[in-house]
Amino acid sequence: MGEKNSVVPRIPDVTEKKRRERGPIKKNHLLRSKMLRILLVVTVAFVGANGIAIGQETSGDSELARHYNSRYSIFDEPYNIEFKYHNYEQMSRFLRTTSLRFQNLTALYSIGKSVKGRDLWVMVVSSSPYEHMIGKPDVKYVANIHGNEAVGRELMLHLIHLLVTKYGSDQYITWLLDNTRIHILPSMNPDGFEVSKEGSCDGGQGRYNARGFDLNRNFPDYFKQNNKKSQPETEAVKEWVSKIQFVLSGSLHGGALVASYPFDNTPNSLFQSYTSTPSLSPDDDVFRHLSLTYSQNHGSMFRGAACSASQPGFKHGITNGAEWYPLTGGMQDFNYVWNGCMEITLELSCCKYPPAEDLPHYWEENRVSLIKFLAEAHRGVHGFVIDENGNPVERASVKVKSRDISFFTTKYGEFWRILLPGVYKLEVYANGYSPREIEFMVIEQHPTLLNITLHTTKITHDDERRHVTASEEERRRKGRRKPVWS
Ligand SMILES: [Zn+2]
Repeated sequence: MGEKNSVVPRIPDVTEKKRRERGPIKKNHLLRSKMLRILLVVTVAFVGANGIAIGQETSGDSELARHYNSRYSIFDEPYNIEFKYHNYEQMSRFLRTTSLRFQNLTALYSIGKSVKGRDLWVMVVSSSPYEHMIGKPDVKYVANIHGNEAVGRELMLHLIHLLVTKYGSDQYITWLLDNTRIHILPSMNPDGFEVSKEGSCDGGQGRYNARGFDLNRNFPDYFKQNNKKSQPETEAVKEWVSKIQFVLSGSLHGGALVASYPFDNTPNSLFQSYTSTPSLSPDDDVFRHLSLTYSQNHGSMFRGAACSASQPGFKHGITNGAEWYPLTGGMQDFNYVWNGCMEITLELSCCKYPPAEDLPHYWEENRVSLIKFLAEAHRGVHGFVIDENGNPVERASVKVKSRDISFFTTKYGEFWRILLPGVYKLEVYANGYSPREIEFMVIEQHPTLLNITLHTTKITHDDERRHVTASEEERRRKGRRKPVWS
């Protein structure tokens, strides 16, 4: 924590700024959150001053009554998370309670609303919840994109509870929260969840959003035109990931037990559902490693047993997405190709919506994996792209040579890329600067810090020819949205 304060100036938080820019929903939420905090402080101060109860329980709703009882303070209650399914109201209450009790470790924001107007809550857990820590990665989990795949949604609430209660006592979690901002969206499809049925292991009731769209087929696709009408939940996630540079992400599902990695789609998916050809990305080694990190730390995933006789088993509990079955418009390919975020899909339970009594088992199986996976954001290379005067170069295009997926620097000039140990070359391009190529090494023990200075392209008569060549290179590169390794 000290390092963060001494090394870099504190800057306005990306998400907070976004909230301000985004208008009434965020403003209302901020205001509401502030009012709640003020109310809480007033309540605590009042009880502390005279200890007199001014409210009586006048209705059968004890929740409501407690809020009007001055003796009541959320700090008097044990902070627990039960092993049961939380509907939208209960989930929202848990998140609000957490944000009130752990104000220095959490921030609650909404990235938008579902078709039926439910907030898509995101909870940040970090020692810097309201501010991006310059040079340190932002990571995320997105659960319940399919409304009837309920385990991940509950695991996210337990993960939040674990992180905030272990900070300061557990060394690993303290390190993780001091060096990472973890954004958790427990339900991307709250409308679907509300119409799903506990105990329903298969089937599609609640899978889709309120307009009947499969949200994990609703993103722009790298390989094929996706003509599905973009849904509010999808739009919210697209805007979210365009504003925060997430380095690593997990998308939580159910109905199988496997970690699945990009690509989900394939260039030749004409007869898609019936092929089983892998569609390998240029970062296949990294994605396999990330998936194995999850399956190896999981209670049973690594064994790769099939969920049923009609379903496949998976060697070491991992699979390439397209090799399992290709799909168009998935979220993980979108994160990887468009946003420079390594996302994998985590299928956490053979039964999509198992009885609540099974939840302790799922939590136990996934607890370590969920934490170890996020820590992988600290593997590989990271650094800053700056100009000759030390100013950050924003939107510089960065690429690891021979891994033909570009990613971009943030407004602070930061970049991150997860890589396994080895020697690599980084290619950096930015408008108005000469391109650069830098060799670097990645080791197992800690990430490589690589700062790159770009030099302005001087447009003199002598240099004009070279400049034009650089611009052509830039145009050529920008136009190359289609895969070049296929
Ligand atoms: Zn799913």
